[in-house]
Amino acid sequence: MKCLAALLLFAGVASLLTAQQLTAQQLTAQQPAAQQSAAQQLTAQQLTAQQPAAQQPGSLDDLRRVAKMIPGGRPLRINVLKFAESPRTKNFAVKGAPADPGGQSRTVFQVVYPDGYIMIDSGMDEPVHKTFGHGAAEPFDAAAEERIQQALRGARSIVMTHEHGDHVAGVIRSRYFDELAPKTVLTRTQAQTLMTAPQMPEIRLTAEMARRFVVIDYDNYFPFAPGIALMKAAGHTPGSQMIYVALASGAEYLFVGDSAWHMDNILLMKGKDASWVKEDEAAVDAQLKWLNAIGRTEKNVTIVVSHDGDQHKRYIEQHLLGGALE
Ligand SMILES: [Zn+2]
Repeated sequence: MKCLAALLLFAGVASLLTAQQLTAQQLTAQQPAAQQSAAQQLTAQQLTAQQPAAQQPGSLDDLRRVAKMIPGGRPLRINVLKFAESPRTKNFAVKGAPADPGGQSRTVFQVVYPDGYIMIDSGMDEPVHKTFGHGAAEPFDAAAEERIQQALRGARSIVMTHEHGDHVAGVIRSRYFDELAPKTVLTRTQAQTLMTAPQMPEIRLTAEMARRFVVIDYDNYFPFAPGIALMKAAGHTPGSQMIYVALASGAEYLFVGDSAWHMDNILLMKGKDASWVKEDEAAVDAQLKWLNAIGRTEKNVTIVVSHDGDQHKRYIEQHLLGGALE
């Protein structure tokens, strides 16, 4: 744990530098239009720069190695909590799928150590949830959202799969923002997107807010905690990353965020078909191929898709995930 603290301290120092850079950028940027297009160019440049990596998203062996870099006891178990759903027929999630009823589960995950826990993603409040319904009322469990808020308060740290509202608003718009932001780790790309091109205005970070977070910058992999490695996975968003977790039991998990919306994206190697989603399809396709190969050959690895509620139900039945936060 000392080492984790040292790492987070180091990440904190890195974040100060990054925050200063961001601030400078943002301050110059108060003539929005021109600067925003500059920011978009940066993002496009960044995506292009990552394209060689996107052909070969990563290596499981590298993830395993990086997850061992920080000494300490590995996590014991992982929990999932669903707090909302957007009913959508399956053809939106999986190109070519029949228009059968389906739904996008809105979820968070909790990685539990003997002496504390880490939250993966933070959920969202009801106003941001409503922006996803395009006017339609969609199921939202306010009590579950409140449990998530309390779980975020109890967490040692919070890490985000990506910078979309349903994953980050739980911190950004929380009434506990002052308490949560300093232990929330954003990648520099996530912070930049949230400042310059947020998915919705409700989650825009000001420079002042961005400075409160721990902002990290890495190329391919980052050792986050004992048993946990982050891997860059730009595609669905510029700041998307996958999170690899190895438990003390030896069981391995790969949290793929929204690289897939449904496990069938991975099994069939078919992307999304939702007109409102703008993503780097080549990068996402490469990720789906990579995940498909892992699914076929690495029986010890459980692939966890953020919005696939049926998958989570199966994993809970199989005791691969716990069904409540602790
Ligand atoms: Zn999402």
